[in-house]
Amino acid sequence: MKNGGIDVKKRFLSFAMAICMVCLLTMTSCSAAEIPAASGGTGVDSTKLTSESQPASSFSDVPADAWYAEAIAYCQQNGIMSGTTSTTFAPEATLTRAMLATVLHRMSDTPAVSDPPVFTDAVAGSWYSDAVSWAAKTGVISGYGGGTFGVNDPTTREQAVTILWRYAGELETAGTAGVADFASISTWAQAAVRWAEANDILDGMLDNNRFDPKTNIKRGEVASMLYHYLSNNASGQPEPATGGKTLVAYFSATNTTRPLAEYASDILNADLYEIVPEAPYTDADLAYYTNGRADREQNDASARPAISGSVENMADYDVIFLGYPIWHGQAPRIISTFLESYDFTGKTIVPFCTSHSSGIGSSDTNLHSLASGANWLAGRRFAGGTTRSTIEDWINGLDLPEQSTAVDAVTSATGKAAFNFETKSVTLNSGYEMPINGLGTYSLHGETCVNSVKSALASGVRLIDTASAYGNEEEVGQAVREAMEELGLQREDIFVITKIYPGSEMANPEQSIQACLDRLDLGYVDMMLLHHPDRNDVKAYQAMEKFVEEGKIRSLGLSNWYVKELEEFLPQVSITPALVQNEIHPYYQENEVIPYIQDLGIVVQGWYPLGGRGHTGELLGDEVISGIAKAHGVSSAQVILRWNLQKGVVVIPGSSNPDHIKENTELYDFALADEEMAQINALDRNKKHDWY
Ligand code: NAP
Repeated sequence: MKNGGIDVKKRFLSFAMAICMVCLLTMTSCSAAEIPAASGGTGVDSTKLTSESQPASSFSDVPADAWYAEAIAYCQQNGIMSGTTSTTFAPEATLTRAMLATVLHRMSDTPAVSDPPVFTDAVAGSWYSDAVSWAAKTGVISGYGGGTFGVNDPTTREQAVTILWRYAGELETAGTAGVADFASISTWAQAAVRWAEANDILDGMLDNNRFDPKTNIKRGEVASMLYHYLSNNASGQPEPATGGKTLVAYFSATNTTRPLAEYASDILNADLYEIVPEAPYTDADLAYYTNGRADREQNDASARPAISGSVENMADYDVIFLGYPIWHGQAPRIISTFLESYDFTGKTIVPFCTSHSSGIGSSDTNLHSLASGANWLAGRRFAGGTTRSTIEDWINGLDLPEQSTAVDAVTSATGKAAFNFETKSVTLNSGYEMPINGLGTYSLHGETCVNSVKSALASGVRLIDTASAYGNEEEVGQAVREAMEELGLQREDIFVITKIYPGSEMANPEQSIQACLDRLDLGYVDMMLLHHPDRNDVKAYQAMEKFVEEGKIRSLGLSNWYVKELEEFLPQVSITPALVQNEIHPYYQENEVIPYIQDLGIVVQGWYPLGGRGHTGELLGDEVISGIAKAHGVSSAQVILRWNLQKGVVVIPGSSNPDHIKENTELYDFALADEEMAQINALDRNKKHDWY
């Protein structure tokens, strides 16, 4: 799985020896050896690299007028790539996957990797082994499945662009790439090519506007891609703003938001700016449902009420708190005017709103596109009359830039399990990344199981939960293999959980674990759980630990373990479980167990999230849940799943219905307000729907 830990903002370039070593080790697809770059691999801050007036490179096989000459000179002079001899660069030679991994690993400052994945075709301790481990573990270059990495395989152009795109953080770019042969690009590479084209990374590489995705990439082309990527800041990560000051900007038509903004400004020692409309709002303008001015503006997405005056020195601020009242569920349109009046690229925006009844809802996320280059922190709603100390507590709990990045701020309400709602994943204590919504396969068998898993993978689901006891591991394995082939997915893209059962399976754990691996036939299993406590559970877990050491299982966990069971179990094992899977739904909430587990740094996953087969009717039809669903224009199932996510609980709803499967992935375009969470929390009956 992709590891969100790649810090593209802080990437440093330090490429030098690797390609030399690659070629000296007689790689089949590298036609010439490369000597170290003059800089000797010293890290170079990419933000300081210049793309202007590059002196020509000194290579005899790089004509000064060649399309890649400037890029090669740039890479050489910045210590990114060097020649294959002291006088040649071999711009037409190809690069292997191991070599590309090495380049990018060095660009990331050669981070160390714990629990490295094992590949049968990678020589341990070789020049590339750290880079390959890093690339596979971060998901920048995934293994092939079946335990191989393809170290000596050349890299096609579409693979190379996708690898660079992953390295840059997999940014989505709207629209279709304009290359003439876009249709021949593999589906899995299309987003990357769109991104590369939009950021001019393909400049010089297109012949008659054709990308030729399946052709092997050449060294000159790789130099060109890196040159354009680095000099265009194509990571999409905003350059950090330099002003270092905080601004509290607010709009307050009835003086409800004003005092909160003043508290914030005072607490933060920040400048205060009032967004004043050129035409003030009268009481008549503000009267709801009269088709008055506010009603009309809120009904017209393009309305942009003019602002009187402006912030003269916006460049000085790197954090902007933005306060507004809620009008018809949204921010007043004058906030749109404000956001479109300045360049917020690289700045952090912290929205807050005042409302007597409704929550912040989608009012903050709907603003993101108006300042898409900013880091938006999650917004917060306050009632009118909120005290200074409440505002102070809120501010103290924020992850402002000094402490962390914007992505870190996208966490669940608990703050314990750091769910990233952008990547839709969580990093486990094992270091692996796991999706936070998946598909449960209990009671899915035969064709139904294969089709459901494939349907889920086609809908973007990347987490599949099975178990030896479900009797469907073979079908799950088959579906995953077929989907990888059909959808162009890599094994690393998919996270598969299975479980071994009490009784004879836990009494003979090595045999049972191997049987799961054999039935799944996916090379390795991402996570294995003990399905229930058992007299042999410690022995079984210790056997799973050995499989982790051998690289056949990546992470371990438990299922149906509660506080007392955990207290007894944890001291007896070496690897802290990464996950506990327990029954959790609005009628059985485990409100004491969840925080206990999360405080241990263990992720919680809920089974029967929709109440379980046979029980879903009552839960999905629950008045409170249906009401909230209606207010957000989503289904009851989506509300329940979102409620789980906001509590920091991973969801694995079971379904054989492709429409339900897809619907169950659409959980990230709306958010439940604090009051809505509280309403669902109040539904707890402490009533299990199964015996364990
Ligand atoms: P569930 O997810 O709570 O409910 C599944 C039921 O919900 C199915 O009848 C399904 O019908 C329906 N459904 C799914 N999405 C829906 C939607 N959007 N709208 C309306 N109905 C929807 O129960 P589950 O599948 O039994 O449990 C989830 C997973 O947890 C299991 O598959 C299994 O992986 C795991 N589990 C683990 C344990 C354990 O002991 N560790 C125990 C039980 C379950 P359709 O097929 O028609 O969509």
